[in-house]
Amino acid sequence: MSAAPQLDLDYDAIVIGAGLSGMYQLYRLRELDLSVRVFEAGTNVGGTWYWNRYPGARFDSESYSYGYSFSKELLEEWEWSEHFAGQPETLRYCNYVADKFDLRRDIRFRSRVTAAIYQEDTRSWRITLEDGSHHTCRFLITAIGPLSTPTLPRIEGRDSFQGKSFHTARWPHDPVDFTGKRVAVIGTGATGVQTIQTIASEVGHLTVFQRTPNWCAPLHNGKIDAETQRKIKAGYPEMFRRCQETFACFIHTPDPRGAFEVSDEEREAFYEKLYGERGFGIWQGNFRDILIDRKANATISDFVARKIRQRVKDPKVAEKLIPRNHGFGTRRLPLETFYYEVYNRDNVELVDITETPIERITPAGIKTSEREFEFDIIIYATGFDAITGSFDKIDFRGAGGALLKDKWKSGPSTYLGLMIDEFPNMMMLMGPHTALGNIPRSIEYSVDWVTGLIRFARDNGLTRLEATREGVDDWTDHVKSLGVGLLSNEVDSWMTGINRNVEGKQTRIIARYSGSAPAYRARCDEVAAKGYDELRLA
Ligand code: NAP
Repeated sequence: MSAAPQLDLDYDAIVIGAGLSGMYQLYRLRELDLSVRVFEAGTNVGGTWYWNRYPGARFDSESYSYGYSFSKELLEEWEWSEHFAGQPETLRYCNYVADKFDLRRDIRFRSRVTAAIYQEDTRSWRITLEDGSHHTCRFLITAIGPLSTPTLPRIEGRDSFQGKSFHTARWPHDPVDFTGKRVAVIGTGATGVQTIQTIASEVGHLTVFQRTPNWCAPLHNGKIDAETQRKIKAGYPEMFRRCQETFACFIHTPDPRGAFEVSDEEREAFYEKLYGERGFGIWQGNFRDILIDRKANATISDFVARKIRQRVKDPKVAEKLIPRNHGFGTRRLPLETFYYEVYNRDNVELVDITETPIERITPAGIKTSEREFEFDIIIYATGFDAITGSFDKIDFRGAGGALLKDKWKSGPSTYLGLMIDEFPNMMMLMGPHTALGNIPRSIEYSVDWVTGLIRFARDNGLTRLEATREGVDDWTDHVKSLGVGLLSNEVDSWMTGINRNVEGKQTRIIARYSGSAPAYRARCDEVAAKGYDELRLA
């Protein structure tokens, strides 16, 4: 082991991003008595919940299963008002956490990181911010989120529009008045669905431009009464234990039966029950084979298609809302609250842009191949350059000047989704190849793992930690092999790295770890237990 170089660094660790990952990472690193600086582009904490202020933004995991679990006091103090809290409440929660643990004193806001360059002579990272300032540290931790780089459609004339236009993830802090306005929404993913169902009754007229319909299921939100609140709090230890055991850390567990191991009547009754229940149960708690077996999947797709036909009065509109190119749950399932009923309103129109494509945005609105629409407001619910997009925005250069962009040109390669060869002392939270699922549960695990590694380095006088090429190849192959046979990997979506609005993101990749969260944790625990001997340590 070589001796630590003498050097004068600004910080022991820099964390990029003050969302749920960055906040918790700061909290943990402080416990090690390290000097830490978090750089955050926004003006306050919250990450996803800071940026996504669009109307109707809310959880679709149960609030109580989504909050941090690391502090008993916090769990005791905080009360969620609804089973699926809205964005304002969640952002209040993030601020409450920041206040409670006095996090802001180590966070610098309005500080977008543009470059991160590893310096071998000092075994350190040099970070550059948008304002041109530089900051150095031993350890660099990215907490930049898998869905945080919004993308706008590449439609001619977009900048010529004279009305107001917003991307949902860059929503203004002041409320937008929709009264009497002619509004367009482009995009019908989880965000579009929440926006559309929320503003339909407020706007003068709403036109939804849909390219691909998504399968949606009812959220069944509700207020949490005092008795339920008491039960939730008393049940926290058991609920978090359960989240640790389930496949994707949700409170829902797949049914052990296959879809054809029951009679037609039983299957129908089971689907009916799931459709009537809260949250992701119909996705995460369904028959074990619906996401791997086409025929099994067809049974639930057929069930939900019938629900859409029942709920939407105009049969032509209903048919447009039923997905044809992918099965139920093979893209991230949007959860809805009377979304389909929106299309029964007189002031709402659905435009299928596969039939009548958008030709251009005009100063007055949107021109399709069929006609020109006039709008006061255009809302882009067009999603994100997901998973690797936020990495692409920062000029990451590792040992010997290795460019991350080049390294990941044909898809990410990682060690446990946490580290990359040639990028020593850099750790990623919720980057590619980690178990995502119910994200705060995964965040807490990853942060604790990274903290354990840094503690190990500190205790052993290590100044250089690097994943090996072999380790990266093995993990990347493992992640790819786990994706084989999953119907979701045969479908275009952000989950398979497709974004038609971004150059070079037209080919499907395996960017997500699709094994179980318990298996993921077991593998990472094993590495830690063996003294991180799979890493190159110096
Ligand atoms: P998304 O799922 O990627 O949906 C983007 C939508 O925009 C799609 O309908 C897409 O159509 C459409 N679109 C993109 N470019 C277009 C273009 N040029 N012309 C026409 N349509 C275009 O993005 P999202 O809805 O923002 O959701 C992303 C993820 O964020 C979700 O899957 C979820 O994981 C997360 N999210 C979570 C919550 C929550 O927890 N409460 C809420 C919202 C979002 P195509 O499908 O044809 O590409």
